[in-house]
Amino acid sequence: MRASDTELAMPASAAEAVEAFGDGRGVTVFAGGTILMPEITHGRYPTGGRTLMLTRAGLEGITGDGRIEIGAMTRLADVAASGVEPLASAAGDVADPEVRSQATLGGNLCAPPGAESPRGDLQAALLAAGASVRSAGAGGERTDSIDEFLGRAHSEARLVLAVELERPRRAAYLSLRRAHAHSYAVMAVACAELADGIRVAAAGVGPRAVRLAAVERALAGGAAAAQAAGAATDGVTPHDDALASAWYRSQVLPTLVTRALERLQGG
Ligand SMILES: Cc1cc2nc3c(=O)[nH]c(=O)nc-3n(C[C@H](O)[C@H](O)[C@H](O)COP(=O)(O)OP(=O)(O)OC[C@H]3O[C@@H](n4cnc5c(N)ncnc54)[C@H](O)[C@@H]3O)c2cc1C
Repeated sequence: MRASDTELAMPASAAEAVEAFGDGRGVTVFAGGTILMPEITHGRYPTGGRTLMLTRAGLEGITGDGRIEIGAMTRLADVAASGVEPLASAAGDVADPEVRSQATLGGNLCAPPGAESPRGDLQAALLAAGASVRSAGAGGERTDSIDEFLGRAHSEARLVLAVELERPRRAAYLSLRRAHAHSYAVMAVACAELADGIRVAAAGVGPRAVRLAAVERALAGGAAAAQAAGAATDGVTPHDDALASAWYRSQVLPTLVTRALERLQGG
């Protein structure tokens, strides 16, 4: 990409960012750049449109106590240090300190899906915590549940401004990863106990993180962790990629879910 290939916008406030994003057509949002910089290197960055650099838009920060708001530009290092579980453990599990000091929550939530693309492991933690996503785009600003947001993501251009969540009563996060630096998690499971029951979600078992609804139903019916985890692959379609085969993911997911639930119930 050359400087002349894209027009740059550098908003100085959230309001300016929303105005510059408009309906999102032809706009590439640039946050921490840990996914987008390699796209530039490999010549895959969109050209001819506008790049919206969010660095100075004032979208970072964690506020609130019971109901917590986390700005889209909050770095994963700050999410990891926040103590807001299961997000903090999920953020602390991403890559290494160098990446976490640059990568943002918004970028993780909006990580492009696909077997070869880096995933957003925090999506599972946000699903488990029953978070809401505040975003702007065509039709103005609105707040969606994380389930709705991920269901529509990538079919609709939205500028994420913040996520909001109630602090869960208890939460746990567990990932399966390769033992070398710069590795991506093969799969990750997050669970959280909210006022209306336990939510369980997994990343790395499809293009985006998913709720494990059959496990949640089994738990609500009184099943023990291992028994409920037996339903972990119901409605889930794991994929083959460079990290692991679909078969391996199907075999290991129930164990990962069992251990995450045991951690939740013991914590
Ligand atoms: C070596 C390495 C290891 C990694 N390991 C992991 C890992 O273990 N787990 C993991 O989950 N990820 C991992 N990643 C991927 C990445 O670091 C994270 O997903 C990160 O949180 C992305 O955030 P970013 O701010 O850098 O995103 P960017 O690169 O700036 O953007 C990513 C995507 O999100 C969009 N976007 C960004 N912000 C917004 C917003 N506010 N509104 C709408 N769209 C937006 C961008 O347009 C782009 O499509 C790794 C990356 C590297 C380089």
